[in-house]
Amino acid sequence: MTRDRKYDAIVIGAGHAGTEAALAIARTGYQVLFMTMNRDMICQMSCNPAIGGLAKGQIVREIDALGGEMGLATDQTAIQYRMLNRSKGPAVWAPRAQADKKQYRLYMTKAVESEPNIDLKEDQAVALIVKDGKAIGVRTAAEHEYFGQTVVVTTGTFMRGLIHVGEEKFVGGRRGEPPSIGLSDSLRELGFEVVRFKTGTPCRLRDRSIDFSVCEEQKGDLEPEPFSFRTKRLEVDQMSCWLTYTNAKTHDIIRKNLHLSPLYAGRIKGIGPRYCPSIEDKVVKFADKERHQIYLEPEGRDTNEIYVNGLSTSLPKEVQVDFIHTIPGLERAEIIRFGYAIEYDCMPPTQLKHSLETKRIENLLFAGQVNCTSGYEEAAAQGLMAGLNVIRKLKGQKPFVLDRCEAYIGVLIDDLVTRGTNEPYRMFTSRAEFRLLLRQDNADKRLMKFGYETRLIDKGTYSEMVKKYENVEQVITALKNTRVSNIPLDKWLRRTNESINTLPRTDLQLANHDYALKRTIEWDVKYEGYVLRQLAEVERFKRMEKRRIPCSIDYSLMKGISREALEKLDKVRPISIGQACRIPGITSCDISALLIEVERQSRVSRETSTALRSCQ
Ligand SMILES: Cc1cc2nc3c(=O)[nH]c(=O)nc-3n(C[C@H](O)[C@H](O)[C@H](O)COP(=O)(O)OP(=O)(O)OC[C@H]3O[C@@H](n4cnc5c(N)ncnc54)[C@H](O)[C@@H]3O)c2cc1C
Repeated sequence: MTRDRKYDAIVIGAGHAGTEAALAIARTGYQVLFMTMNRDMICQMSCNPAIGGLAKGQIVREIDALGGEMGLATDQTAIQYRMLNRSKGPAVWAPRAQADKKQYRLYMTKAVESEPNIDLKEDQAVALIVKDGKAIGVRTAAEHEYFGQTVVVTTGTFMRGLIHVGEEKFVGGRRGEPPSIGLSDSLRELGFEVVRFKTGTPCRLRDRSIDFSVCEEQKGDLEPEPFSFRTKRLEVDQMSCWLTYTNAKTHDIIRKNLHLSPLYAGRIKGIGPRYCPSIEDKVVKFADKERHQIYLEPEGRDTNEIYVNGLSTSLPKEVQVDFIHTIPGLERAEIIRFGYAIEYDCMPPTQLKHSLETKRIENLLFAGQVNCTSGYEEAAAQGLMAGLNVIRKLKGQKPFVLDRCEAYIGVLIDDLVTRGTNEPYRMFTSRAEFRLLLRQDNADKRLMKFGYETRLIDKGTYSEMVKKYENVEQVITALKNTRVSNIPLDKWLRRTNESINTLPRTDLQLANHDYALKRTIEWDVKYEGYVLRQLAEVERFKRMEKRRIPCSIDYSLMKGISREALEKLDKVRPISIGQACRIPGITSCDISALLIEVERQSRVSRETSTALRSCQ
C-alpha cells in the first residue's frame, strides 16, 4: 500500500539519535514521520543507566545549548549526580548523572507523543526508496511506502543484530527485541559500504541479593548541578552507587572458560570497542592487574535491578554465575538478566559530509550508532545535528556545521567524516585539541545562539544567557581594576592556592552569584593565559579551514602524490586544506602537492569562465 502524504522528514529509529532529530525538526514546524520498531522503547538505554561522564558530559551540555532534549530529560529523571574530575583542570571536569532508566524512557516518550508535528508509527523500514540519486521515502515490513523530502536513518545496533551468550546465538537488535532485517541490504545495494561491529553489556543483579555492607558507598554530589542550562531548580533525592572489585578467583574462572567466549572462540567477527573491553578482554590484556573495579548502579527508583558496571561479558550463563559469586558482596547475588554481546551492521562514516548527509545519495542522512559510534550522548548529538541539517535543507540554507574549535560535537563529526574509525567511536577529552575552550560550563556561551536562531531555545532563556556572560565580564573587569596591596585582583586570583571564595575584597557583588557562575569567573581568570594561547592556535586552525578545496576537484589529475594518498583524498573529498591535513596518512608533501593542484585547477576554471564570458 502506498501512502499519498508526503512528509518533510522521515526519521527511522526512536533511539537517542532519532528522538533528538525528530523533536528538532518537528519543533521548528515541519511534519515528521517517526518510525520505530517498538514505540514502548523510545530512548531505551541499552546498557548503563547513566548520562554524561568524561567528555560525554560536555556533549550533553552542548546538546542542551543547541536546544536538544537530553539534558532536560536527565534532570527530570536523575537519581544521582556527580561532577567527575574535580581534582583536575577545568577542561576535563565532566558532569555525569545516573538516570532512572524507565522514567527516562517515559519522559522521552511523552516528549515525542506530545509533539503535534510528529506522526509516530510502529513499523520496520526494510528499504529506502531512491529516485534520481535522491532519497524520497521508505518501504516497510508492513508493506507500506511512505514518502518524505528527507530521510534520516538512526537504527543503532539493530541492523542484522546477532546476540551471543556463550555458545548460544540468536538474532536480536537488543535483548528481547527483534533485529532490523533488510535495511542494511538495501543500503548495500545502493552502493554503501557496510561493516560489522560488536558491543556488549554486563549482567543485572537483584538488589536484595547483594551484600552492600562490604562494598564502598559512592554518594552523589552534595550540591548537584543540573545538566540543562534550562533547569531552574534541582530537587533530587539521590541514591547511592557501590564499588567492589574482581579478584584472582574471578580471573581464574574467566581464564579457564575463555574457550567458551564467542569472542575468543572466533564466533564474533565484528570489531568491538577497545576502550570499553569485556571482562574477558580485561583479564587477558591486563593480565598483571590483580583486580578490576566494579560499580553497582541502581537502574531506577522503582526497580530492584542493579547494573554491574565494568563486567561486560558474553561468557555462558553458568560461567557468569560462577565468576559473579567470587566478588565481595556478590557471593549470593542473583542474576536477573545475563550479559551478552551483539554484532550489528553499521556504515563507515567517511561516506558522509559534515552535515551527516550521505555523499552518495542526496537528502539521506545517517546519525547515531549506525555511524560506527558508541554511546547515548554521541548518538543524541549526531541526531540533533542531523535534525538541524534537515531543517537547513528544507529551508534551502547551507549546512549547519560546528568547527572543532567550537564544540565537542564538531570534533565528533569531523573525526567521523574525515578519519573514519575502525572500532566503535566514543568521545574522549584527548580528541579535542581546543579542549580548554570547550568546557562543560561554557557550552551555552559557545552554542546557545545557534539554538536560539533555530527557535529551539526561547528568547527568555537566550537573554538570560547573554546577561549571565555580561555579568561575568563585569566582574572580571572589576577584578582587573581593583588592587589589594598594589596587586590587581585578577593576578591575585591566579595564584595557585587562591580561589574566588578567598578574595580579600568582598564588595564586588560576588555574593549575588551562584556557585557555578563564580567558578566560571574563576576559571576564566585563572586560565586566561592558556586560553589566549589556544585562541592563537584557533586562528591558525581557521586559516587552514578557510582554504577551501573546490568540490569539483579531479584528484586523478594530481601529480607528485602517491596512489594511496590520492585514493584517501578521493574517498574523503575534504572541503578544506585543514580537513585534508587531518586525514590519516596524508603527509605534508601531499598537502603541498594538493595546494598546487587546487591553485592550478582554480586557475584553469577561472580562465575557462573568462574565455566563455568573452565568447558570449
Ligand atoms: C548490548 C549493548 C551494549 C552497549 N554498551 C554500551 C556501553 O557500554 N557504553 C555506551 O556508551 N554505549 C553502549 N551501547 C550503545 C548505546 O546503547 C548506543 O550507542 C545508543 O543507544 C545508540 O543510540 P542510537 O539512537 O544510535 O540507537 P539505538 O538506541 O540503538 O536505537 C535504535 C532505534 O532504531 C529502531 N530501529 C532499528 N532499525 C529499524 C528499522 N529498520 N525501522 C524502524 N526502526 C528501527 C530501534 O527500534 C531503536 O528504537 C550498547 C548498546 C547495546 C545494544
